[in-house]
Amino acid sequence: MDKIKTSFDSILEKVHSYLPDQNLEILEKAYQFSLKAHRDQARAGGDPYITHPLAVTKILSELQLDIATLCAGLLHDVLEDTQVSNSLLKNEFGEEITTLVEGVTKIDSLEHLSSNPENLPFFTSNPELLKQAEYWRKMIIATAKDIRVILLKLADRKHNMETLEFLKSDKQTKIAEETLTLYAPLAQRLGMYKLKSDMEDLCLKYLDSEKYLILKQKVDQREIQREEWIKKCVEKIKSVLSLHPFPYRISSRPKNLYSIYRKMLKQNKPFEEIQDLVGIRLVTDSVEHCYALLGAIHTHFAPVPDSFTDYISVPKNNMYQSLHTTIAFNKDEIVEIQIRTEQMNQVCEYGIAAHWRYKQGAAAQTLSAGEKPDVGEDKLDWIKQILEWQQDAKNPKEFLDWLKLDLNFDQVFVFTPKGEVKKLPQGSTPIDFAYCVHTELGHQCIGAKVNNKMVRLDTILKSGDRCEIITRKGQKPHKDWLELVKTPRAKSKIRKFLREVP
Ligand code: MN
Repeated sequence: MDKIKTSFDSILEKVHSYLPDQNLEILEKAYQFSLKAHRDQARAGGDPYITHPLAVTKILSELQLDIATLCAGLLHDVLEDTQVSNSLLKNEFGEEITTLVEGVTKIDSLEHLSSNPENLPFFTSNPELLKQAEYWRKMIIATAKDIRVILLKLADRKHNMETLEFLKSDKQTKIAEETLTLYAPLAQRLGMYKLKSDMEDLCLKYLDSEKYLILKQKVDQREIQREEWIKKCVEKIKSVLSLHPFPYRISSRPKNLYSIYRKMLKQNKPFEEIQDLVGIRLVTDSVEHCYALLGAIHTHFAPVPDSFTDYISVPKNNMYQSLHTTIAFNKDEIVEIQIRTEQMNQVCEYGIAAHWRYKQGAAAQTLSAGEKPDVGEDKLDWIKQILEWQQDAKNPKEFLDWLKLDLNFDQVFVFTPKGEVKKLPQGSTPIDFAYCVHTELGHQCIGAKVNNKMVRLDTILKSGDRCEIITRKGQKPHKDWLELVKTPRAKSKIRKFLREVP
């Protein structure tokens, strides 16, 4: 129990370091509440259940998220796994925290439906399966409604991946596949590279453990061999930069095993032939100093032709900003250098989460005492900002659709009994769904079950519903159906039938 209290205290300490002026009492309350609610439960590894919400909250505190999200982290499983009701939670912790917990719980209920392995393509290029995975991600976003719910869900998934060893092997595979196809790409889209690559490496460990172990050994070995040489590079760079007055810190780049694994598969090459440059990172205090450092480096070392990329003036779609250049000390000694500010470095590692944090900080500073930050407005700002960054995207419309979060989401995603996902416009009914699956299914429809309950044919479908169409041979579409359907496809099929079969 002491260990648990200590880990909660270290979270408090961390939160206090980035939110020094805020009262943390409600965190203490959420911790006690969660501890009590989960008191009789244990994790698969035998630890008391509370260790899980604590680990999730620790991840969220490393992302420096707000108090409401941290409380929701502590409480995220109480609705699903304990007797605690929504109204009790609302009474104790208010609307905002309850809504966040409800969001995570809703996403969890979607997960249970994804038991069809065909929906979870591990390393596939099958366009239909890729489309399914994409729909899933969209559905998660649509269900979450608030970006903080996604961050909670990602933290939850990360800790579940870290403790996957305690589960049975078929469950391990299922969860790892789901993480690799749904959650890691989601983290990438949100620019959370660190979380993404941590998750991917854990997935590889369970999906191809043999290759994972060999690869890990080889990468570690190569690192040992290269350690001396990296040290030498760092010294050389330090010595030339000592001639200039710019502040900076220097580090080498972390490894992502899964990306090497992918390259090996994609290029069909053994590990030894995978081009993996030594990477060195310089982090400084301002954009001006980024370019100054670049200038200094280029003055002293020859850049490899065409290797320079300026992601500061043209950021990547997911907000990534940095200067990239590759320099050669001599013919065989090539090193890639990334130069960025501290804030860019945060955004590179934590993506959306870092951005959220900076926004909040800015909002808090400009507000006078007693005023509350307008979270809704802030969120819209955030989306606008992303969309601005998106202007160079290959398919901006697609991205815009994807990011529709809580801006009147106009699509719903509905499951077939086999677990396939269909995309329909908001307001669609079971008849739309039937025609979306197959024309004959539409024509012969006499009723529908949604989530195993019989419903009327004018029922409006919601994201995450599982819809089953009941048919009878010889049944015909009815003229009144035209009033019930939303999709052009269903309308035209019904009209065509009525025209041809009077
Ligand atoms: Mn959980």
